[in-house]
Amino acid sequence: MIKEEKIEFMSKWCKYSKYKIEKNNNILYVLPDENAVPITYDPFEIKNDILKDLMIIGEMVNGDETIKFTNTNLTYEAKSKTKEFQKVVLDFVSKYGLLGNFRYFPKNFDFLEKDNEISYSSKLDSSLSIIDFEQRYFWPDKKIDWSKKMTVNDLHRNSGLDANLIQVEGDRLNDFIFSKNYAEPISEIIDFAESVYVTKGVIGTYLYGNLEPDLKEFYAETILNQEVYKINFKYGIENGKIKFQWNFHSLRAAINAMLLLNETNGRTEVRLCKYCGKPFIAENLKAEYDTTTCRNKANIANTRKRKNK
Ligand SMILES: [Zn+2]
Repeated sequence: MIKEEKIEFMSKWCKYSKYKIEKNNNILYVLPDENAVPITYDPFEIKNDILKDLMIIGEMVNGDETIKFTNTNLTYEAKSKTKEFQKVVLDFVSKYGLLGNFRYFPKNFDFLEKDNEISYSSKLDSSLSIIDFEQRYFWPDKKIDWSKKMTVNDLHRNSGLDANLIQVEGDRLNDFIFSKNYAEPISEIIDFAESVYVTKGVIGTYLYGNLEPDLKEFYAETILNQEVYKINFKYGIENGKIKFQWNFHSLRAAINAMLLLNETNGRTEVRLCKYCGKPFIAENLKAEYDTTTCRNKANIANTRKRKNK
């Protein structure tokens, strides 16, 4: 008899051994260092760390009161210019790689093969031309001819890797987003981190908050409207075992799936501290606080509340 359902998942992502921050057109980017080498890893083996580390950046944004009174896109730009955010974003990317927004934002990839219009997911300005979109993510390299748009077979121009390296590291490196010329604006990573943190908070409030029915309905709508898409899967084989292999087109899509799994697998290992709101990995099912300091502070606050009644 099968007592426990256990699916053997596998997935592959690529990162570089070293990243750097550079400025272009007054926008700060993270991109691979010239001497960095590619490394493949399975993001699902460390999904809790990825979620927690990303939400720590989100919590830093969310905890800042000024964001509520300003244009959020400008705020992410402003944050990308601070040492504090540059450090945490560079740390995150050095551990897990770039998000793959070039794969995430377009609704389809026809534009690479044909001269089609490009349509983007809701997060990106829909008036961005194809060339502008490509220039947003590919580092201005003298060898790249920007008078023409890129094509699917344009690996030599865009990968910055030689054929031997591609073969050694496997098929995923054939993708544009693993190019050494591929860069992402720091502001986009901060923006995504905050949106994941906010989603996690919304789910928590929906489940445990004391909400009036109308407000509960509103929270439910927000949860149901979350983008989790473009994920496919196939048979995989690893160490002679048949595996359920996820094919993610971007780390961003993988992280959306990680949060969905975290919230629905019955254990919810990555949680937000009930006192300070910081994300942490729960070591047991009952854990509600990230530190004993927060647990003690919460106990004192609760005792006070009871006394005042
Ligand atoms: Zn705490």
